[in-house]
Amino acid sequence: MLKLGIIGQPLTHSLSPLLHGELMRLLDLPGEYRKYELPSEDLQGFLADFARAGGRGLNVTIPHKLTVMGMMDSLSPEAELAGAINTIVLESNPVHPDQVRRHGHNTDISGFIRGFPESIRARLAECRLLLLGAGGSARAVIAALMRSGVQAIMLAARNPEKTALLLTQTEQMKAALGSACHVSVMSLDSPELNSGLLLAGCNGVINTTPLGMWPDTENSPLTAAQLKNLPSDAFVYDLIYRPGQTRLLRDTARLGLETISGLDMLLFQGIFAFELWSGVEVPANIIPAVREVLSAALIEKTLDFPVTRET
Ligand code: NAP
Repeated sequence: MLKLGIIGQPLTHSLSPLLHGELMRLLDLPGEYRKYELPSEDLQGFLADFARAGGRGLNVTIPHKLTVMGMMDSLSPEAELAGAINTIVLESNPVHPDQVRRHGHNTDISGFIRGFPESIRARLAECRLLLLGAGGSARAVIAALMRSGVQAIMLAARNPEKTALLLTQTEQMKAALGSACHVSVMSLDSPELNSGLLLAGCNGVINTTPLGMWPDTENSPLTAAQLKNLPSDAFVYDLIYRPGQTRLLRDTARLGLETISGLDMLLFQGIFAFELWSGVEVPANIIPAVREVLSAALIEKTLDFPVTRET
């Protein structure tokens, strides 16, 4: 039986129990996926107890993605690159079942890339992109973009200290990847963003701020007037998945430009984590059904659902 769960604080609105419950149901794999809301000081003890109880895997979310880094026996190249973990695989020694190794992974990077339609993914290496926000997800997004060979990232955020820190981290990522990506930074209210010139030279915009997230759905990090400066083949990718169509994406769609919501990133980071835990490749033909369940839950706002499937 797959004993799985998610650690974070708070977890009230997490869609992960629904996603993994649905994967277990469709693949007919017995198991459970529970929410474990706990503070940082309880992490070490929890990880030991969970492993002792036969736990196989955990998702990790805010605020523990960085804290658990030092609690792992090994890190995947993606976790090392992003400096953050969103998935832990627990592997017990068949001879000494009490010895459990902890492997830290980051599936946000590959999940973010899978969120792109194939037509855009194929031309990422030619892109110059505007990235909004300098928080936890921005780091995974930058790692993913650099790995995809993007030419330039213009990072716009509101907090100069955090932006400067992220810039230092991007230098480390560049060195680790041997990337030639040019990274520049500016403030979110910089005149450059309003002049239109900068947006006219962008192939796409990626929003990693929560501006526009439910319930503040009329908010947006860029105005419709700013978006008008984008070239006609540009795209806008909003990591927000609730609502599926944010104000930013609605304004972009009105201009006839391609829009990408955060739902597929959410879906695929989960699928890639599930594959690591179960060793089962999720067949492509069940993915639309899982996506539909997530999408329906977001529309109905039925975010408190049963989290366990035991057989
Ligand atoms: P985070 O670590 O809190 O970072 C958020 C960033 O946005 C920070 O740079 C923050 O600036 C900035 N920000 C927050 N409020 C702002 C405001 N009112 N005006 C301007 N900037 C503001 O959060 P995160 O983990 O990166 O998540 C960000 C968003 O991405 C959330 O909506 C989350 O749901 C979404 N997300 C989606 C997925 C997915 O699978 N689709 C995965 C991860 C995240 P300060 O540092 O100054 O606060």
